[in-house]
Amino acid sequence: MATFEPVLLKYADDPDQHRIGTYLRHGGYQALEKALREHTPEDVVGMVRSANLRGRGGAYFPTGVKWGFLPDDGNPRFLCANADESEPGTFANRAIMDNDPHQLIEGCLLSAYACQINTVYIYIRGEFSFSYRRLEQALAEARERGYVGKNILGSGFDCEVWVHRGAGAYICGEETALLESLEGNRPQPRLRPPFPAVKGVFSLPTVINNVETISCVTHIVNYGADWFAGIGAADAPGPKLYCLSGHVNRPGLYELPMGTPLRELIYEHGQGMREDRAVKAIIPGGASAQLLTADDLDVTLDPGAITAKGSILGTGGVMVMDETTCIVRANLNTVRFFANESCGKCTPCREGTRWMVDVLARIEGGGGRTEDVELLLDVCDKINGKSFCLLGDVATWGLSSGIQKFREDYDRHVTEKRCFAAAQPMLAA
Ligand code: SF4
Repeated sequence: MATFEPVLLKYADDPDQHRIGTYLRHGGYQALEKALREHTPEDVVGMVRSANLRGRGGAYFPTGVKWGFLPDDGNPRFLCANADESEPGTFANRAIMDNDPHQLIEGCLLSAYACQINTVYIYIRGEFSFSYRRLEQALAEARERGYVGKNILGSGFDCEVWVHRGAGAYICGEETALLESLEGNRPQPRLRPPFPAVKGVFSLPTVINNVETISCVTHIVNYGADWFAGIGAADAPGPKLYCLSGHVNRPGLYELPMGTPLRELIYEHGQGMREDRAVKAIIPGGASAQLLTADDLDVTLDPGAITAKGSILGTGGVMVMDETTCIVRANLNTVRFFANESCGKCTPCREGTRWMVDVLARIEGGGGRTEDVELLLDVCDKINGKSFCLLGDVATWGLSSGIQKFREDYDRHVTEKRCFAAAQPMLAA
């Protein structure tokens, strides 16, 4: 196992890292001071572009390019830090906000400076009450020391940062639903175009970046674009927070270079499978991702390599299932989540995800009909690519890949009229 010095989580284990005194002792706010003193906003955009920082929220779109979409129309602009981390199996942003909130705040200020933005909203998932309190405390400290507010460090740059709590809906992680929620409306996605960079919150130009992405900006300014671009996968470089969960001996949050092999994550960092069982399936990027199999263990965890395997790196939430897992039950679990979180705006997703749950529950409960598996694939086809936003599509991906790769689990349920993993408790209907 190659040694890698953590970047984002370097001081996460220090119990006082959330306090500004400790953050400053560890070199905090130096990047901001340096940027305000030595660099123009264009310089910072150039650094982020040269570093090839790609958004960690799941799309991996180049951050500097996204910033470049802001129109130069003289209107006020906004930055929204997407802290609505709701993807099942994902807990990276929360770790930053709980343990090192100033790192996020400094990244917000640098990003705002680069994009010439004076107002930042950190949109945080409603259930993250501890993270919220940590952020508010950190912001109060930063304001008191002159890092947030008017004329920051005497530079003439003004920037206010507000934390906005959501009410706990998965769809608020979708950037246009987030904007609706931020405006006090029902959080349903907006039609695009126009994209948020042109018409975002309050119909004004808005940049939306994920917490992990924004936190990387601080380190790019501190250590340089070449340093960042030299870490991990060439086409999506930098440190990456992998959330490892499931049937491994040591689940947890691991900061590693982007492109770390899946096998290394499971067998070295995660210390292997519980009771030395075999791997059956892996979800590599949160519940939205298509399933991988044990044949894919040598894939590297970067967006390009995972896409080539027919899945997505998504949030980096890696969920591992061993040979005792019933894929029908696993699919039912995730599809039920998406059905519950469907915002109801469009028919394919609102109705289709419910149908998928009904048919899956029938198969799982031993009442499956011979035609049910093909029916499920047909419903997936009617939703995927035909929904208003990505939630509808991703609701089908785990299921369709589960049927394609583990068809025998489905057929066995239908023919034997029971779940072969009967030792596991049945899910509540
Ligand atoms: Fe809402 Fe689902 Fe349609 Fe997205 S796909 S707009 S979540 S109903």
